[in-house]
Formats: sequence, structure tokens, C-alpha cells
Amino acid sequence: GASCGIVGLPNVGKSTLFNAITQAGAESANYPFCTIDPNVGIVEVPDPRLEKLTEIVVPNKVVPTAFEFVDIAGLVKGASRGEGLGNQFLGHIREVDAIAHVVRCFEDENITHVSGRVDPLSDMETINLELIFADLDSVDRRIDRIARKVKSGDKESKQELDVLERLKAAFEEGEAARSVELDDDERKWIRDLHLLTIKPMLYVCNVAENGIHDADTNPHVITVREHAAKEGAQVVVISAKVEAEIAELDGEDKEMFLEELGLSESGLDRLIRAAYELLGLVTYFTAGVQEVRAWTIRQGMKAPGAAGVIHTDFERGFIRAEVIAYNDLVDAGSVAAARERGKYRLEGKEYVVADGDVMHFRFNV
Ligand code: GDP
Repeated sequence: GASCGIVGLPNVGKSTLFNAITQAGAESANYPFCTIDPNVGIVEVPDPRLEKLTEIVVPNKVVPTAFEFVDIAGLVKGASRGEGLGNQFLGHIREVDAIAHVVRCFEDENITHVSGRVDPLSDMETINLELIFADLDSVDRRIDRIARKVKSGDKESKQELDVLERLKAAFEEGEAARSVELDDDERKWIRDLHLLTIKPMLYVCNVAENGIHDADTNPHVITVREHAAKEGAQVVVISAKVEAEIAELDGEDKEMFLEELGLSESGLDRLIRAAYELLGLVTYFTAGVQEVRAWTIRQGMKAPGAAGVIHTDFERGFIRAEVIAYNDLVDAGSVAAARERGKYRLEGKEYVVADGDVMHFRFNV
């Protein structure tokens, strides 16, 4: 499955947010305490389309799709030089698919800030530079390793060196690998470097519990937004404290509390959706009377691969897929009506699954 790591300096609110995540996950019937690793929290991806499908199909059960957040505490200045438990934490970041970078935007004199004052720009830079230093190290080591081959005139090594040097130049300017334009081949060459800064990243502004409504005028949030815009990164504003309270609640209680706060959805739900998009994930549905269910695939995945997410047998024995686009099904009001309107399609192995496709797979066992 896909995963998003939560990083940030100490005392910015990572644990508070992560606890809200695990609490929300524990409340859900579909993934009750199914993680063993205390640093991994499973969240359901909120999707209003599931409700609509449930009205149409009236299934026994509804299962949203899910993905993982990983708590990566302990990143401090100097981590890339092995300070603290630095290298270990950087190793954990290597394993996630995307990064949620939490930035402290709340003032509270009782809660120490590692650098003495709330300073989002400096915080972001500190974390980003540690990741960049670690990547610079990886690239330098690779350059050393291929040096002899390059000298001997090996063409591929020369091309690889060219990519490595472009990355190195970016790192030395304090820029992330994701800011370097690379084509598919170049990406392949460097894939096994597992660079940290090539992973997609979004910023999470943690504001005070009474600061959700005027977040747009919070100078710290404004600073984060300005910086993020330069990087082309997304920003999600939450209050980890409030999220922790919301996560304790369920169903109607949760809705009432949100209403009192004047919110249409929790910050956690917004964060989940933003992370899902950041990961380049899309959802297709299966909709039978037994179960209506959302499944996660990577954008661009073809029908057999999508079938394989349900079961490897579905992929191996794939014959074809029956597909109705979500909007067509909702417009028609039933599968039968969608068929009558000619909205029911049979698709083969080369079909690229679209977000919202309602699918039924035919396969050989
Ligand atoms: P971490 O070190 O990044 O995991 O930070 P924690 O989640 O442990 O938070 C550090 C301290 O800040 C804790 O005492 C939290 O209760 C507090 N904290 C987190 N978010 C907020 C907030 O929005 N407002 C205030 N006042 N305190 C917060």
C-alpha cells in the first residue's frame, strides 16, 4: 500500500496529529487495530461517492479505501551527519512514498521551540536541508562509484554522471531533487538511489486550537504559503489539538462538533485527501450487493493491474473488465438503466482505469 511519512522538527505537533490519525483509524470498523507497528496509522480515505453508490446498490457492507501515515519523529538539525538518531530516521523516510512536513504555526510560551521562537521559514529550511544533505551524500557516493567507468568511456555511465551532476548542482543551491526536471530514463537511472527529496511533499501548518478560523491572517501561515508556492507545494492548515478532539468522536457527535466549529469536514479528512492526491492515487469502485468498495491504484494503471489490487488471481487470469463511469451510473440511477443508455463498456488489457470507474472483472482461474 501507499504511505505518507509525517516529518517536522520536535515540538511542532507531529505526535498530536499522529495520535489523531491512529485514533480515527481505531474508530473505523474496517481497520480495527490492524497495525502492529506503533509508528504506522491506517486511515480511511473519505469519499462522498461511496454514499451515492450505497444508495444505488444497497449493499450489505461498505468499505472505503485506506492508506498509511507513518510517524517519523526525531528529525533534528544535523541528522544527515548522523546526529541524534539521524540516519535511522532518514532511513524511515526512504521507505515512504510521500512526505507531510508539519510546521509549527501556533504560539505557546509553555512549549519550547527548538530554536527559541516560532519561525516557520527557518524550520522548513532546517528540515529540507537535512533531507537535501542526505541526498547530496547519496549522489556523491554514486559519482565516486561510477568514476572509473566514466573514465573508461562507458557511454551509459557518462549519461548517468550528467544526471547526477545536475542533481548535485541543485542540492548545492539548497534545492530538492523534485525541482530538477528529469525524463523517464533519467528517473530510472537514479531510482535505486532512493532520494528523499524526490518524493512529493506537502506542508501542514499546525495552528492553535482557536486559530483555525483566522488562519488566513496568521502571519506564520502566510509565510509557509509563500514559501510553498515557490516550490509548487501544497499547504494544508490544521490544528492538531482540535483534530485530536475530533478523532475521539464518532458519527453524529463528530458532525455536531464540526458544526459547532463551523467546519464542513475535519482537517484530518482534508489532509488525507491532499496526501492521497499528492501520491498520485486514484480510486475505482466495485459495487455488488455484498459489498460496495473503493480501491486505490496509481494514476495510469491498466485494467489487469487494477484487478490485481483485489487479488493476484484477478490479474493473472484477467479476461476483460465491465466498466461504468461513476457519473454515468449516478445519472442513470441503476446498473440496468446505465446499460440501457449504452454506458456499460467492456474493456480489455490495455484499458487505463479512470478515477471513479465502477468495475467488474471477468477472469479465468
Ligand atoms: P512533536 O514533538 O512534533 O511530536 O510535537 P507534539 O505533538 O508532542 O507537541 C508538542 C507540544 O505542543 C505538546 O505539548 C502538544 O500538546 C503541544 N501542541 C501541539 N499542537 C498544539 C496547538 O495547536 N496548540 C498548542 N497550544 N499546543 C499544541
